[in-house]
Amino acid sequence: MNLLQSINDFNEAKQVIVGGVNSPVRAFGSVDGVPRFIHKAKGAHIYDVDGNVYIDFVQSWGPLIFGHCDKDIESSVLQSVKNGLSFGAPTEIETTLAKEIISIYDGVQKVRLVSSGTEATMSAIRLARAYSGKDDLIKFDGCYHGHSDSLLVSAGSGCATFGAPSSPGVPKDLSKHTLVARYNDIDSVRACFEESKTKGSGVGCVIIEPIAGNMGLVPADREFLRALRKACDEYGAVLIFDEVMSGFRASLRGSLESCDVLPDMATFGKVIGGGMPLAAFGGKDEIMKLLSPEGSVYQAGTLSGNPVAVSAGLTSLLKLKSDPSIFDTLAKKAHTLTQGLKDAAQSVGIPLQVCHRGSMFGFFFNDKPVRNFDDAKQSDTAMFAKFHQKMLERGVYLACSQFESGFICTAMGEKEIQSTIDRAKESFEEIANNSVGKYNGQAARYAP
Ligand SMILES: *Cc1c(COP(=O)(O)O)cnc(C)c1O
Repeated sequence: MNLLQSINDFNEAKQVIVGGVNSPVRAFGSVDGVPRFIHKAKGAHIYDVDGNVYIDFVQSWGPLIFGHCDKDIESSVLQSVKNGLSFGAPTEIETTLAKEIISIYDGVQKVRLVSSGTEATMSAIRLARAYSGKDDLIKFDGCYHGHSDSLLVSAGSGCATFGAPSSPGVPKDLSKHTLVARYNDIDSVRACFEESKTKGSGVGCVIIEPIAGNMGLVPADREFLRALRKACDEYGAVLIFDEVMSGFRASLRGSLESCDVLPDMATFGKVIGGGMPLAAFGGKDEIMKLLSPEGSVYQAGTLSGNPVAVSAGLTSLLKLKSDPSIFDTLAKKAHTLTQGLKDAAQSVGIPLQVCHRGSMFGFFFNDKPVRNFDDAKQSDTAMFAKFHQKMLERGVYLACSQFESGFICTAMGEKEIQSTIDRAKESFEEIANNSVGKYNGQAARYAP
């Protein structure tokens, strides 16, 4: 596979952009490969600067549920651009989008639009702390909620304790307010509540990905979410569902389709912007009304509710809402794909755990089921790196880490799914035979 231009571009980028990328995962660090510089994309496929074509299961890390260059989204964006890029003043379309979110997602009565998932969770937490009057926060090991200081915290010495900064630059004075619990483990949650009650300032809010997509794909059990809801009510904590990835992705209603638990607040991003920088947080009116200008909790954004981004997001949402069969079709494809991957791996004796929720899918090189981050970390990441590399050589673009989810888009047909399974079979056979492979790092060009 010719990668000369990507290699050149990467070297040049590294001179002026830290690590050559504007978000670390793009550097392919965990699979030790060459990050592809992308030239263009269409539907299910992306094209790199060397002219290689790939079936894209990353889809911009989730936003593109209709694939690249969807005609309806494209035309609404072009129309909006002609009317001006940004006004810093309210527009009618923001109200329309807010109404749609509220009508789809139960329990959300008011929203505010922002520009990234990080902003959405950060603002939701500030508001939740103000509402509950308590500073401590519980998050779950392996869940990702963006890169704000309070959330860049990892489990300290074991779970159910106050966390430690997971990045230099995060003050201990801040991370000491974040407790880290184990996913799908209600005892660890209760231990956090007790720890905070006796040694801390009390838990003001709990934030969780109800369908975790950032440690690989690990959905929360229904019983666990019910018990979590109960604990939050008992201790007076605001429950925030971070649906930035799962919202309008796992189902139209995110996690709500598979579980009867409602959060007090929810955050959205990715699909909600249709590929443009747009995110949102929302919740019960009694909480949301504390936000400025109605209340005194400060939050703002120069480009918040940007009309072009809102156009893209609204078009996506309306398309999803207008055809309820979309999610069934996507889920069927995800099922076929994950079963195919599992069978292919098993046929050569490689254990693979697979999972899908709507259009999200994940797989672990692990011989045991994965229910939390401790389990996920037992996966064979070296095997993942090999598989990732072999799939790339065959023109299949998978997320470049064992701990990411994959995404199906409507532009993927049976043909792409089946051909991905075929290429996985070849890859697994090569891995099992420990052979260099027929491509031997050379030109794999696949015509879509
Ligand atoms: C991607 C993601 C975020 C952060 O969103 P950005 O737009 O990258 O800031 C937050 N929470 C979850 C669950 C995510 O998947």
